[in-house]
Amino acid sequence: MRSAESLPGLPLLDTFARKHDYLRISITDRCNLRCQYCMPEEMVWMERADILSFEEILRFTRVAVSVGVTKARITGGEPLLRKDVVSLVERLAAIEGIEDLSLTTNGVLLRKLAEPLYKAGLRRVNISLDSLRPDRYHELTRRDQLPQVLDGIEAAADAGFSPIKINAVMMKDVNVDEAIEFALLSRTRPFHVRFLEYMPLDGQELWKHEDVVTGAQILARIRETGDVVAVESDDLSEVARRWRFEDGEGEIGFINPVSEPFCGACSRIRLTADGMIKNCLLGNDEFNVKRLMRTGGDDEEIASLIRLAVQMKAEHHGINRPGFEKLVRNMSRVGG
Ligand code: SAM
Ligand code: SF4
Repeated sequence: MRSAESLPGLPLLDTFARKHDYLRISITDRCNLRCQYCMPEEMVWMERADILSFEEILRFTRVAVSVGVTKARITGGEPLLRKDVVSLVERLAAIEGIEDLSLTTNGVLLRKLAEPLYKAGLRRVNISLDSLRPDRYHELTRRDQLPQVLDGIEAAADAGFSPIKINAVMMKDVNVDEAIEFALLSRTRPFHVRFLEYMPLDGQELWKHEDVVTGAQILARIRETGDVVAVESDDLSEVARRWRFEDGEGEIGFINPVSEPFCGACSRIRLTADGMIKNCLLGNDEFNVKRLMRTGGDDEEIASLIRLAVQMKAEHHGINRPGFEKLVRNMSRVGG
């Protein structure tokens, strides 16, 4: 029976008894890259008036914490483009009950912002990078910014971020020939290199199932080149399957939402930049918390909407099933 209900002080459970304690906060849909797998070349940006203010984001986060959220990740679009992002990070980090605050970025602006972000209380960054070859990076992102990203990674290391996670999406006939080079970054440096499977979120109908390179295929290639061992983890909600070179300083992770969906351990809810709660990256359900906040809704009503979103969550995303409903939003508008 679908009857689970969260009450104050109790975990935020859905109807399949999954505990929800992880909030992804998208703070902008704008970006300084145009990655092909994420957005079309020409984007229509959200109206500024529709984007949540810092006060609204902070209020929502405080309420989310009051119903059970303990971890938050800031994302976008490119979150470092948001004016005064450092001050937002500082205020989010100061919320009592947020035990883990992280941020996902394309790295382009990290040289300037890594140190201020660290000083503001951020300790973990994920940096997205899909090619180490300038021409290919340019083609994939439609922008020529690879040197800035590589320098941004060094800036993050200089500032003290640890671990630094480097996220790469491998695609057939596009960049999978660089998988070993990426994995080797974790051998000599303490980076956590994570391979993400390609998902249908490009907003242009480019995605084809046959272009997905599975984590297992990449792991098999890596095993041919060196000795890797599995890293054990006690965290059941961890989505990455973790490995490392026996003599490696860092780790290699595999996030396999297409070939091995981790819906059974999903702990995430999302807040979009335009104020919608989403209960699944790959679903179309949205709950309009901006309207609630802007029409005088109180904190208990916001809490109820969060609970409702969690209660309505489907058991699985359906991308491997016939009849999968086309996604309305592309990745940059959901928040990755
Ligand atoms: N702009 C930041 C960045 O690129 O890291 C944060 C937002 S981005 C949408 C978050 C993550 O989503 C990135 O790691 C990116 O590689 C990933 N991503 C975007 N589109 C994807 C897709 N179609 N399949 C898999 N991952 C995707
Ligand atoms: Fe921008 Fe990140 Fe999307 Fe690339 S993946 S276009 S960097 S939001």
